[in-house]
Amino acid sequence: MRLSRYFMPTLRETPSEARIVSHRLMLRAGMIRQSSAGIYSWLPLGLRVLKNIERIVREEQDAAGCQELLMPTIQPADLWRESGRYDDYGKEMLRIADRHGRDMLFGPTNEELVTDIFRNSVKSYRDLPKLLYHIQWKFRDEVRPRFGVMRGREFLMKDSYSFDLDYEGARRAYNRMFVAYLRTFARMGLKAIPMAADTGPIGGDLSHEFIILADTGESEVFCHADYLEFDPHVGGVDYDDDLQPVVDEWTRLYAATDDKHDADAFASRAPGEKALRTRGIEVGHIFYFGAKYSEAMGATVQRADGSEAPVEMGSYGIGVSRLVGAIVEACHDDAGIVWPESVAPFRVGLINLKIDDSATTETCERLYSGLSSSGVDVLYDDTDERAGVKFATSELIGTPWQLVVGPRGVASGVVELKSRAGDVDGEIPIDSAVARFAG
Ligand code: ATP
Ligand code: MG
Repeated sequence: MRLSRYFMPTLRETPSEARIVSHRLMLRAGMIRQSSAGIYSWLPLGLRVLKNIERIVREEQDAAGCQELLMPTIQPADLWRESGRYDDYGKEMLRIADRHGRDMLFGPTNEELVTDIFRNSVKSYRDLPKLLYHIQWKFRDEVRPRFGVMRGREFLMKDSYSFDLDYEGARRAYNRMFVAYLRTFARMGLKAIPMAADTGPIGGDLSHEFIILADTGESEVFCHADYLEFDPHVGGVDYDDDLQPVVDEWTRLYAATDDKHDADAFASRAPGEKALRTRGIEVGHIFYFGAKYSEAMGATVQRADGSEAPVEMGSYGIGVSRLVGAIVEACHDDAGIVWPESVAPFRVGLINLKIDDSATTETCERLYSGLSSSGVDVLYDDTDERAGVKFATSELIGTPWQLVVGPRGVASGVVELKSRAGDVDGEIPIDSAVARFAG
């Protein structure tokens, strides 16, 4: 992409309405624009990041044996009357009437709808287990939408649903999602700590929120300090195995959200300086709820012995759009965003220091077409701005790599290669620049 043609309305001034750094940087980098409280348009740069996050989430769900479908945003109220949640949900639910006066709503989540699909098609234990997911916009009329995309009213969520014959099957599905979440967040350069969360009337211990530690987070959390040393990468997973050992390893230390926090247990399991009492951002939530919806909605299956039983279910959410803000919150410096490569909007920023110098511009054009045709996402700054402005823009939008091309280097056959994270900064031969990124 040529910056001269790209729609990326950056801001020099810090927008006064933004109170946390991720919101400020996303506005300044031209990633999002608010249309009304908690509702945003995703501009091209922001959309690229959102799509990258979505792709990682999808790949890891698919790898875990979860099958993608797509349910609508608008749902009939009657399904929610069956589960009893139509009244319970209160003002967070956006209620709509269609032209025939039928009550509809903009889905805040999809348990009812997916249970309806399931009960209409699955009748036998032979068709179990099933894991289904979709990535779809949700609407919740939050009391206090704030912090940009972190707490929006309209937001993109990945939600999965598991269907099993018994508790043991449901636990295995839960473990699959647990491990898939560890892998998903690690690929985004994040360390998300699974913390025990509220299970409500269901009880048991199958509810975890995945939390990224951050002072600006809205959740108050308590955990053992050794989590900071954990390596979030979980390799060599076979999803057909019982993944309980991985789950046990990640849950053996104390970690709880404030709903589930127990001061005595904390004091004995994370004594002294091992006690970390801090704040975090909830990027995912996995939850087993048994027959809560299947019983209310008559989603039963026939067992091998011929008897009927309500299907055992769980739901598993990831805040896809919230993650964009959460990653910026975790990955930035004073100059701007420092994207992890896996989610970066562009991998390489190609900077032309002197567009009226023909040798420099020729070199840039050659590099630009070489990188583009090798499939490298490159943003070519071919504008006539001063070098200082170009560097500032590049640092603000946070492309992981910069290739800086100027007359002096070109004369001696080199360009400058810099990493946004700051660990690489040196000259490389022009002829090796494309190969450095291709393949
Ligand atoms: P919270 O406690 O932050 O309100 P929740 O418990 O209501 O979240 P879930 O219903 O479990 O959230 O939704 C799954 C995921 O969707 C959450 O883990 C979070 O990452 C994301 N999410 C929830 N509400 C919002 C929102 N208003 N804006 C952006 N993302 C959200
Ligand atoms: Mg909520």
